[in-house]
Amino acid sequence: MDVLIVGAGPTGLTLGIDLARRGVRALVVERAEGLFPGSRGKGLQPRTLEVFDDLGVLEAIRAAGGPYPARMIWKDGERVGEQPVFEKVEAEQGTPYAEPWMVPQWRTQEVLYARLTELGGRVDFGREVTGLEQDPKGVTARFADGTTIRARYVVAADGGRSVVRRAVGVGMTGDTVDPAPYLVADVRLRGLDRDHWHTFPGSDGSGVTLCPLPAIQDFQLTGRFPEGTDLDLSLDGIRKIVAGYTHLDAVDVTELRWASDFRPRAALADRFRAGRVFLAGDAAHVHSPAGGQGLNTSVQDAYNLGWKLGAVLRAGAPDALLDTYEEERRANAAAMLDLSTGVHRGEVQRGRATMQLGLGYRESSLSVETREAPNGVRAGDRAPDGTVSGVRLFDAFRGPHWTLLGAETSLTSVRSVPTAPASYGPGIFLVRPDGYVGWAGDTTEGVEAYLAKVGI
Ligand SMILES: Cc1cc2nc3c(=O)[nH]c(=O)nc-3n(C[C@H](O)[C@H](O)[C@H](O)COP(=O)(O)OP(=O)(O)OC[C@H]3O[C@@H](n4cnc5c(N)ncnc54)[C@H](O)[C@@H]3O)c2cc1C
Repeated sequence: MDVLIVGAGPTGLTLGIDLARRGVRALVVERAEGLFPGSRGKGLQPRTLEVFDDLGVLEAIRAAGGPYPARMIWKDGERVGEQPVFEKVEAEQGTPYAEPWMVPQWRTQEVLYARLTELGGRVDFGREVTGLEQDPKGVTARFADGTTIRARYVVAADGGRSVVRRAVGVGMTGDTVDPAPYLVADVRLRGLDRDHWHTFPGSDGSGVTLCPLPAIQDFQLTGRFPEGTDLDLSLDGIRKIVAGYTHLDAVDVTELRWASDFRPRAALADRFRAGRVFLAGDAAHVHSPAGGQGLNTSVQDAYNLGWKLGAVLRAGAPDALLDTYEEERRANAAAMLDLSTGVHRGEVQRGRATMQLGLGYRESSLSVETREAPNGVRAGDRAPDGTVSGVRLFDAFRGPHWTLLGAETSLTSVRSVPTAPASYGPGIFLVRPDGYVGWAGDTTEGVEAYLAKVGI
């Protein structure tokens, strides 16, 4: 076994897909008997839609979701005003997906799981990792049923309470964002239209919201309650909450499908790599759900790690390439923690900042800018979409390969688009498999040396 992925949440499934399409021998193991049933991380940001386009699931994700409705504020049973949830950002040629897309997390996971199995990948359900040991050649993971698996690398995609993170002794540093108890649940109810995200503020900073989920009958109920509230997550308890904060009667809540409570915390793992073990997704960072960053950042962790593991395991790239996972993603996660805490406290608006299109790796050791006077897109930046000589760039990027823009190449694992798009500014651009410019130059001098370092 090359890679053991612990946890079949959004992180583990995304990584499983990326490794399967690279021909890496990987297995996802999941403690639960099936996929996660709740809607909690329902907001897919535009950058994640681009990743899903590359992984071949965008169409299914589009069909499973819908746009965010406007927020409707209620007071004493009356509608008192409508507000957009996001600052509106127009799509442009370089950023064709500019609108967050709402999909219940369980649907996103179903779509990812279907793609994983289509590519020949596998999830072993009902297998709980309880510990692991590593040596210079590999990692042995131990399971609750007494079995073990030996793998060259292990990825902890086992969520905020990660057993794997604890087993390798990596600490988590952070703070409580809000001491108040929060609730998230999936309910069915009557008496509210499905065109608004209904918001019922209380007088003391507490309150609930009911958001219709696209393509299904459910509403996602979220709530913030006074400190010290003991939340009752039964149907009766949820009915009392809805009746207490809204004009609906308790019996208008007809079904409770899933419920969970939590206290928002912002914390970052001290390291994202410990020898042959990598931490990704919530196992590496936890934060407030405000701003919808968690699932999205998790998917992008997996997307950053996937091609690097593929390069080391399948193409003989040096193990040091894997150090750039922590270098790139830990800095990114630290910034995201500040952002989601800012949104939680009402200091930052949801919109351009939360879409994740502006994130990049300019400071990374993998970003090599060799042009004398770079202008426009730089090494480390996200490679925008565009069309050149009738070729759409996102079509050219789709797949596990690198793409050279502005020059020919004889390397079979690099696709070439011989003319660079004018929208990038002058230069030749080498685009990484995860859609960031790795190298940029005035000529191709140095591009082969760069590729050799990453195993091409
Ligand atoms: C209450 C709540 C509300 C949220 N709301 C939002 C939101 O609105 N927007 C947003 O973007 N994000 C939101 N998030 C965050 C989002 O849900 C997470 O960021 C996302 O699920 C992280 O994915 P993951 O795969 O890293 O971890 P998880 O989804 O937690 O998946 C981890 C998986 O690992 C499995 N596992 C755990 N331990 C073991 C073990 N020892 N062995 C084997 N398997 C194991 C678990 O069963 C689980 O399936 C919310 C999170 C919470 C908790």
